[in-house]
Amino acid sequence: MKVISACTQNCPDGCSCIVDTEKRTVSGNAEHPYTRGVVCGKVARFFRRLDAPERITEPLLRDGDSFVPVDWDTALDLCAQEINTLRHEPQRMARLGGHASRGVFAHAGTAFFSALGASALRGSICDDAGIEAMIRCCGSLTTNDPEDLLNARRIVNWGRDLKNSFMHMGMTVREARKRGARVLTIDVVDSSADSDEHILIKPGTDRFLAAAVIKLYVESGLLEQGVVNRTSNWAVFRGLAESWSLDELCAACGVDVADVEMLFDWYERPGAVASLVGWGLQRYLFGGQNVQFIASLGMLAGQMGRKGGGVYVSFSSGRNLVPWQAETDLSAPEDFRTLLAPDLSRELREAEPPLDFIWVDGLNPVTQIPDSAGIAEALKRCPFTVVVEGFMNDTALCADLILPPAYMFERDEIVGASTHNFVNFSRKVVDAPGQCRDIYDMLADLGERLEHPVRFPSRSQCITSSLEDSGVSPEELSSRGFSRSHWPLVAYEGMRFDHPDRKFRFPETLDRDPEPSPDYPLHLLTLVRGGYTQSQIPEDEQKGLPAVTVSPQCPALEALDLSAPVFAVSAAGAVPVAVETDDTLRPDVVVFPRGGWMKHGQSSNPIIEPRITDMGETAAYYSQYIRLENRT
Ligand code: SF4
Repeated sequence: MKVISACTQNCPDGCSCIVDTEKRTVSGNAEHPYTRGVVCGKVARFFRRLDAPERITEPLLRDGDSFVPVDWDTALDLCAQEINTLRHEPQRMARLGGHASRGVFAHAGTAFFSALGASALRGSICDDAGIEAMIRCCGSLTTNDPEDLLNARRIVNWGRDLKNSFMHMGMTVREARKRGARVLTIDVVDSSADSDEHILIKPGTDRFLAAAVIKLYVESGLLEQGVVNRTSNWAVFRGLAESWSLDELCAACGVDVADVEMLFDWYERPGAVASLVGWGLQRYLFGGQNVQFIASLGMLAGQMGRKGGGVYVSFSSGRNLVPWQAETDLSAPEDFRTLLAPDLSRELREAEPPLDFIWVDGLNPVTQIPDSAGIAEALKRCPFTVVVEGFMNDTALCADLILPPAYMFERDEIVGASTHNFVNFSRKVVDAPGQCRDIYDMLADLGERLEHPVRFPSRSQCITSSLEDSGVSPEELSSRGFSRSHWPLVAYEGMRFDHPDRKFRFPETLDRDPEPSPDYPLHLLTLVRGGYTQSQIPEDEQKGLPAVTVSPQCPALEALDLSAPVFAVSAAGAVPVAVETDDTLRPDVVVFPRGGWMKHGQSSNPIIEPRITDMGETAAYYSQYIRLENRT
C-alpha cells in the first residue's frame, strides 16, 4: 500500500513523501508544491534505519558495564522515583533536548520538563546566530516565499549548500536559471560548475566582502534616498563603511577588487536580486555579523521587501505551530536554570547545584557538541541519566537507562518547515518494532506515574491548539498530507520591518577574527555529509579512519608522509585521520565530515574547542584551527 506521509527529520526542506508499506521504500509526493516529488537519499533509504538489526527495541537498564532489558513499567517507575525525589529542587534535573525529530508531538519533551521546572538548554548548535542577526536587522525572522525566487533576475548565493542541505531550493534555483535568472555563488569551495559566476572567499569572512560592496555603494552616489529613509541608523553605518579602505576589506576576505566590483554590479544593475545565505557562515565567532552585513547589502541595494528580491536566511519551522503546554498541580518556578548548549561540557561540570537527573531526547550531544569527552564524562557521572535513543551511539553509551523511541513513519506527527510555508502531516504508516514508543506516549505515561502528575492535553487538543491561527486546514492536512499557511510571497513588503519604528537597523561594528596561531594554520570545517542526517550513520559505515579532505595545494601536504599515521591536531586534542585531496577547496581548509561517532574514532568534536558566536549563543564550530601531522 502507498500512503502519503512526510519527513520530520531535522532538515529545512520539509518534504511530503509517499511510503510504500510493502516494499518499505520512500519516494517524493509529486503533489507537494515545494518538494515536488523528490526526497533526498537520506530518507529514500530511511527504512534501513527503521529495520536495522542493531536497533534498540526495548528499554535497557545499566548493569555494570552493560545493559539489561527491562519492561516499560520498571523503566518509567524508576524515572518517576527520581523525579519525585527531586521535584522540590527541579534545577537538579535537566532535559537536554534537540530536534532530531520535529513537530507538534516532538514538543512533548519541552512541555513535560518545563512543567517540572527542570534545567534546559539555551543557545544553539545550529543557526541561532543568523536568526538573531535577522531579528536585529529586521525586528523578526522571515523571508520571501521560496516560490518568489522564480521572480529573481539574479541570485547571489552566499555559501548556501543547495545539494546536501537545501536540495529543493536548489531545484527552484535551477528552474529560475532555466527561465533566465543568473546565479553567482560565493563560497569556500569552487562551485563554479553550478553558477554563472563564482567568488572563492576566505572562510567566515563574508561580512568583509558585503562591507566592501557597501563601500562601493557609498562611494558611487547611487544609493536611493528612499531606501536610506527606511533605515534607522544610516549615519553610524555609513561612518563604519568609510572607516575601512577597500583594500583592507578585500584583504580581510581574500577577494580581489575586481570580484568586489563584479558583485557590486550584480546588485546594482536593474532587476530583482535574491540573496541566499548559507547556514555555515554563521558558525564562526562573528557569524552573526556575517549575516547582518549580507542583509544590510540586500537592504541598501533596494532588494528587501521586494518581489524577486529578499535575503533568505530562514524562518522557524514551528512558526505555524503554537507550542502546547502540559499541566501539573504543582507550579514550576518561572525562572528555571539554563545550560549553554555550545559549552555543554563546562556547564554540566560546573552546574551548582549539581545535576542528579539528566534526560536526553532528540539529541546526541556527545557526538555533536564540542568537547565530546567532557560531555560523556559528565553524563556518566550524573547519578541517573536517561537517553531516549534507538541506537547505541556515543550518548546512549553514557546512559543509566535507554528508552527506545518510535521514529518517523512509525508515529503520527504534524510538522512545519524552515524554507517553505506548508505544514505537513507525517502519518504513521508502519508499526514501531518491539516496545518502541512515541515520545508523547512515553512522557504522558511517565507524567501519570508522578506523585504530582504532569498531564498532557489529548492528541486532538494538541493539534487544534497548535494550528490555531495558522491558516492551515486540518481536513486538507489529513486528505492531501499538507496545507498552506498564511504567509505572504514577499516579506517586509514596502520595506516595512518589524521594529517598532518599522525601519531596518544596520550593524554598528565590524570585527576582525583573531589571527590563528602559527601552530594551527588550517581552518577546520565540519561539513554535512550527503548520505545521512547529522549523526544517524549506520555503524557498519563508520569503519576505518575518518577521511578528511584538503586541497592538493594545502601547504601541510609538503611535510606529510601519507603512508604513515596522520593526525588532525588542535589545542583540544588529536584524532587520527586519512587524508584525501579535492581541488575545489582552498589551500588553508580541512574538511572533516560531520556526524561520525566518537566510539568509532569518526567524530571531529573531540578536537573542537567550545566557542560562542557574537550573537545567538551558537557554537562557532568553524572558528577552529588545526594542523595535520604525522604521529606514531
Ligand atoms: S531530510 Fe530533508 S530533503 Fe530529505 S526527505 Fe527529509 S525534509 Fe526532504
